[in-house]
Parts: sequence; C-alpha cells; structure tokens
Amino acid sequence: MNMTKRILVITSVVIAGSMLYLWGNKDGSEGRQLNLISEANAAESSLSTEQISPVGIKENRKVYYPGTEAIHPDEMRIVALGTGMPSPRPKQAAACFLVELGNGDKFLFDIGAGSHERISAQKIPYDYMDKVFISHLHVDHYGDLPSFWLGGTTMNRLTPLRIWGPSGPTKELGTDYAMEMMQNMYAWDIGTRAGVIDFRGGQLEITEFPYAGDNEIIFEENGVVIRSFPAIHAIDGSVSFSLEWNGLKFIYGGDTAPNKWYIEYAKGADLAIHECFLEPSLLVAKQGFSPAEALLVGTQAHTSPQQFGKVMSLVRPRMAVGYHFQNDFDTEPIAREAVRKTYDGPLALAKDYMVFNVTKEDIRVRMSSFDEDIFPPAPLKEKNAPNTSLLIPMTDFILSGHEAFPEIVQPIYDEMNKKHGTNIKLPGSE
Ligand SMILES: [Zn+2]
Ligand SMILES: [Zn+2]
Repeated sequence: MNMTKRILVITSVVIAGSMLYLWGNKDGSEGRQLNLISEANAAESSLSTEQISPVGIKENRKVYYPGTEAIHPDEMRIVALGTGMPSPRPKQAAACFLVELGNGDKFLFDIGAGSHERISAQKIPYDYMDKVFISHLHVDHYGDLPSFWLGGTTMNRLTPLRIWGPSGPTKELGTDYAMEMMQNMYAWDIGTRAGVIDFRGGQLEITEFPYAGDNEIIFEENGVVIRSFPAIHAIDGSVSFSLEWNGLKFIYGGDTAPNKWYIEYAKGADLAIHECFLEPSLLVAKQGFSPAEALLVGTQAHTSPQQFGKVMSLVRPRMAVGYHFQNDFDTEPIAREAVRKTYDGPLALAKDYMVFNVTKEDIRVRMSSFDEDIFPPAPLKEKNAPNTSLLIPMTDFILSGHEAFPEIVQPIYDEMNKKHGTNIKLPGSE
C-alpha cells in the first residue's frame, strides 16, 4: 500500500470509527464500538494494534507510576510526599520523604500534616512502612502521624509502628512524652478498635534519641545506618538525619538555620535534602509578614534560598534538593535565581510527588503520576482474632436506640455467606 492510499484508508477508518463511536454512545455500547474501531483500523491499514497504540511497560519511562516499577537491588528511590508549609494547600503537604532501598527496606522521614494521603498513593502495603524518623515535633513535620498510625490499623498494617524522634531540652519537650500524650489523646479511637480488629499495627515502638547527638548512630539494621545530628530551629530539639546503605548516602535536613553539623556530615552525599524557605521578600508579598518577621523567620529560624545555596556549595552533593516553600510558577524562579547566586551544582526544588532514582551511576529526577482512587493494599500477614478482652461494650441505653432492620440486613448476610461459603450469623438472630 502506498503512502497516499494508506493515509486515505486510515482517514476513512477514523471517520467511520467516529460515526460508530457517536452511534455507540447513543445506545450506551461505546465500549464495543471502540473495540471495533481499533480492530478495523488494524485490519484496514495493515498496521498491527501495537503500532497504532503502543502498549507495554517501557524502559526509562518519563513518569513514575507508583506500584508499577521494581526497584533495582543497588538503587535508592526517594519520593517527595510533602514539600510544603504548615499552611495547608492541596498541591503540597507538609514535610515527608519516603526512602526505598533495593534491599526492600522503606523509611519515612517526617510525616507532616497532609502527607498521609500521599504515602497511601504509593500503594505500598503498610507492613512495609513501619519506620518513621521525626526531625522535630512541629505539626508540619509529624501532624499526620496519628492518621498514619491509627488509620494504618484499618489499612492492614499488622506490625507495630516504629518511631524515632529527638529528645527535647526538657522531658516534656521530647518525643517519648509526645508519643505518650498522643496515645492518651486517642484513647477513644484505640478503644473502638483494640477489641474489634487485629490491633498489632496499633502498637508503637518508640526510640527517643538525644537531640544533641553528634552524628550518632540511631539505627543500624540490614546494612542500613542512620545517624542524627543537631539542627538549629526555634528551640533545642530539631535534628537532621543521614542514611547510608550500599555505598550511597542520603541526607534529610529537618528545619534549621544553616549549621556546621549539616555542612560537615552531609559532605559526599548522593542526595542532600535541606530546607529552602520562601525568599524573605515573598514572605512579605505573599504571606503578609512584616519585614522584621520575614527576616527573622526567613533567615534565622529557617534557611533562605541564598543561604541554602551557600550550604550546598560547601556540601557539594551529587544532587541538592530544596523543599519547605510554596513551590509555584512564580515563586520557583525567584527561589532558583536566589540559590544560583551561591550554588552552581545539580539542583532540584522539590514538589510533592517528585521522584529521585539514585544509583552510583546516575540520579534521575521525575514527577510521579498518582491514582486518586486508592484502596488499602491487602494484608501481608494472616490476621489474628481480635483480643476481645479489650472490647468496650456499649451501654444498654445506646443499644436501645438501634434500628436493626433484620429484614434488610439478613439478606445481606445470606448473600455474603453464599458467595464466600461462610456461615456468619446476623447478631441477635440466634
Ligand atoms: Zn519546624
Ligand atoms: Zn517545618
């Protein structure tokens, strides 16, 4: 078939196809008609279906689709799941980064407000996400911990949640105290679940480590070493972390003004994440700060883009990653220009769902697509029977108000029993 003839055939098939599609839509059978179109296209044009609509998983995809891409045994994959600020916005949750290693280990660094839904969008079974490292106890760095912890029990996590966090200048300002109070605060939530479901995922294993630890090891398992070192932010008790595995080094900076520990211990990092706050002029223009507030917050409690650049020019990582600002079409160029005054190396100004594939040979930066219609992944372990001794009974008063509608609910039980070969009795029917 010559080219002109082929184009004519394809054009006529497309027109015929469009008519079929319109007709198909009218009687609700568009799916069948669309099939006909692609078959007709392939037959009439002598092109295989593959040539018309290439399918199959491609190497080196430009977009990351969570749950579809294996991690190489030597690779470290980092996903930005919260890059924003305490002020909530749909496109940026507060601080959270997921680190996945080729050995199967997974780590969460901070779990700020709004980040849980992004964690969930990774489609990773919750039993794998049992390790959370908190840089400091600001709500934008651990505000979604309760949701991840207790919500996780209904999302099939059957392993205890392990949490590492710094001590504070007093006992009441440390992670142990915060976690104890969190468990008290959620007594009602725990009371509703503990005697009803397999509640192993509701257990917490807390490790508080000294905030002043000077590059001290706080985790060492499975070839992975995580160290903490101090950060300078608000009051004592903010830290940064390094994670080393397989000859690769990842640095996660909690909120901080530029500090000597980060500059020393992040040296030689493959990926160095550090806060890069909104440029002080934008804190005035966009956030309504007074100039004095903007300068104090933007350069003393936090790190301005110019200071971030200076830090990175001293650290010289293979890739510098800035986060913790509203990363928009009009703010990003200002941040980038400011960073470039003091740093000329590889740079990513992180947005939520940015993905970094780190190997010794390459660091690949992509954006992720995500599925908004997430359901919890299936449990990895057999579920245990609930510990009914923890059950908190309802009072007769509340139960007396229950409209049981057995004539409606019994058929639901019958249908479920028939489908699954079970014999579950409707409560009160025996
Ligand atoms: Zn903070
Ligand atoms: Zn923060």
